[in-house]
Amino acid sequence: MFLEKFREFKNSLLFRLTLLYALAFVSLSSIGFLAFYYRIYAVTMNTLDVELQDEVSKYTSLLTKSGLEGVRAAIADEGKFEDGEDGFYRIFDSNGNILMSTDMSFWKTIPRPNLPANKDHMGMAHEIQTLKFHDGDSKARSITAALTPDYGIQIGESLEEVSDYLDIFLNLFSVLAVSLILVSTLIGWFLARRAIVDMQEVTDTAQEISKGVFHRRVHVNGRLKEIQRLGTTFNSMLDRIDTLLRSMKEINDNIAHDLRSPLARIRGIAEMNLIKDDNSIDAYKDMAASTIEECDALIEMINTMLEITEEEAGVNKSQAESFELVQLIQEACDIFHPIAKSKKIDLKTSLPESLIIKSDRRKLQRIVTNLLENAIKYSPENKSVAISASVQNGEILIDVEDAGIGISKNDLPHIFERFYRCDRSRSRSGVGLGLSLVKAYTESINGQIYVKSLFNQGSCFTLRFLNSDDVN
Ligand code: ADP
Repeated sequence: MFLEKFREFKNSLLFRLTLLYALAFVSLSSIGFLAFYYRIYAVTMNTLDVELQDEVSKYTSLLTKSGLEGVRAAIADEGKFEDGEDGFYRIFDSNGNILMSTDMSFWKTIPRPNLPANKDHMGMAHEIQTLKFHDGDSKARSITAALTPDYGIQIGESLEEVSDYLDIFLNLFSVLAVSLILVSTLIGWFLARRAIVDMQEVTDTAQEISKGVFHRRVHVNGRLKEIQRLGTTFNSMLDRIDTLLRSMKEINDNIAHDLRSPLARIRGIAEMNLIKDDNSIDAYKDMAASTIEECDALIEMINTMLEITEEEAGVNKSQAESFELVQLIQEACDIFHPIAKSKKIDLKTSLPESLIIKSDRRKLQRIVTNLLENAIKYSPENKSVAISASVQNGEILIDVEDAGIGISKNDLPHIFERFYRCDRSRSRSGVGLGLSLVKAYTESINGQIYVKSLFNQGSCFTLRFLNSDDVN
């Protein structure tokens, strides 16, 4: 149980982030400390070396001035290294024989010195080294230098003081390091927890939504920037899903309604015929005719739905051919003249003499007839409908304009959606698939469709095609 809890904690983001913060903090401070430590060490050693070289220069000039005795007297006068463990002086000849020295009992393991051969840039022949003795427990910095071609000097200075001083520094850092680890772990834990608490809110929301609380949203204010962004994205994704669900529900309702009405009508006709006393063959013929009519409407609706899906999926390849657009529009107008006349609608055209387009004739025909049908259907009596075609900036434009009932601002963004009808009461015929098909066809022949409309004033649908041979 405990082990399992520990394993779970060990795999948690909180633990890993805390560990990461602590490790990063400790490694950075260790690197900083090491760099500082070695800088101090180098500076101390350098100072010591310069001091040793100064000493050698001093004794070189003393030897020339006062001879060996003068040097001996000076060393004795200065009383240097009276405590033999602090360091030593040795004067030796070119054979390595010691001519004079301070108390060497502490330094007796140090080998006999030799006159160094290599001269430095100042002309001084010397050698500086760190001597280890007493099995490495004690260290000394020593300089061995030639005073004259016949005499040499070796000065050694214990590094005990330097190591004591560096040890203090090391101990101080060890105490600091422990406190740093504690503080960095605490800070890391605090920061990681903050991020995790914020993320937990997103997880909780997702869990609640999976249980069906679809209106739940993540509170994004006052959170870390990244979590705020995650929350906002999450919320907008939820809003989008919500809208999709709503529109799917609406489409379902519409399909159900549009399927149910004709089926109910078919059933009603059949029932009426059964109840009626009139069993004549004509009555049955009427019933069959009405049933066929309703079934045709249903089949057409289903076919249109399938056609839209296929167009959107790109299943139906367009058959491009060059043809006279003016003729296509005139033929479409001819079809609608009788209906327009019956509604006293003035169907006007504004067309050039000739306009050749390369496109899919059948699809363009359906697009134009659908738009014309809507323009007439949604116009009251005595209004006018105009269709025009022109070439502008290398594009072919077809406008279908009416002065009919228009489309409200709220409805306008939805009219190309499947089953969308602005008239909720469905007082006019239609199922709300015409414009979806028009859009799918237009896009499949590389065109675009736009609409401008003012409620109660009229609408204008514009088709735009590239005036080129580049149609699939
Ligand atoms: P419908 O079969 O209902 O005509 P459409 O897809 O062709 O379906 O059109 C969708 C809706 O857009 C229509 O129900 C109608 O409310 C609106 N609409 C389309 N064309 C026009 C127009 N020219 N004038 C006013 N409203 C229109």
